[in-house]
Amino acid sequence: MLNWVLKGLKTGIVSTGYPDREETAPGVSPGLPAGQQPAGPAAGRCLTGALRLGGAELQVDRARCVHCFRCIRGTESPADWQPGYEWAARAAGDRTAGWVPGSQFGRSLHIRVVDAGACGACLSEIEQLNKPHYNMHRLGFFLTPTPREADVLLVAGPVTEHMKTALRKAYEAMPTPKGVIAVGACALSGGVFGPSFASGAGVRDVIPVDVVIPGCPPPPLAMLHGLLLMVSRSGTPAVTSLKSQAGGRRDG
Ligand code: SF4
Repeated sequence: MLNWVLKGLKTGIVSTGYPDREETAPGVSPGLPAGQQPAGPAAGRCLTGALRLGGAELQVDRARCVHCFRCIRGTESPADWQPGYEWAARAAGDRTAGWVPGSQFGRSLHIRVVDAGACGACLSEIEQLNKPHYNMHRLGFFLTPTPREADVLLVAGPVTEHMKTALRKAYEAMPTPKGVIAVGACALSGGVFGPSFASGAGVRDVIPVDVVIPGCPPPPLAMLHGLLLMVSRSGTPAVTSLKSQAGGRRDG
């Protein structure tokens, strides 16, 4: 026991300094394709419809990006790529006007994680939030096993047919005020799974979404950013229209 304490003292604090300090450790985020950018051959290399040609510009739909890197690796004309991890955004359009994430909550949150048919990657990254490096407890964020005690649902996966009713019931069981964060490409657009006979085009088809976190999977720091956005402890939030992100079959 004493050895364990001494080792802890010797090691010191290992948690990230984010959000007080920028996290610069290598490998904490894979980055994302940059927003609208000049058209290039990269669009033809994207198999998910995340990059589309729109006149002279390349339209980027981050909700569909699965981090395959085909648009930046093995090509002489790579797409613009954006490092960083603060890429969570407020979802526009699902709530009545005036509903702003953060205005409804105090500074801490109890979070119920819902696996709505995820492959496991997003859930694995969510798990990291509870471990010493990301240590979300220091920010006042706690997991809860029941939606009846949850302020926020953190939902991963495209929402399979079998999970639709369960997700709706979990949402209805929550006390108000309540919020929903959709995590990862599948939760935002159906990802590589949907829409199909077995799953939908994301969480928004089933319950209202307040904050979106793109990525496949999003790194834990992007999730912390989304949670901070939910309690208005992050800077001015970007607003992302889910209309352009979700719905419809991929035709790209
Ligand atoms: S990394 Fe994203 S944008 Fe680039 S090709 Fe893959 S899915 Fe498309």
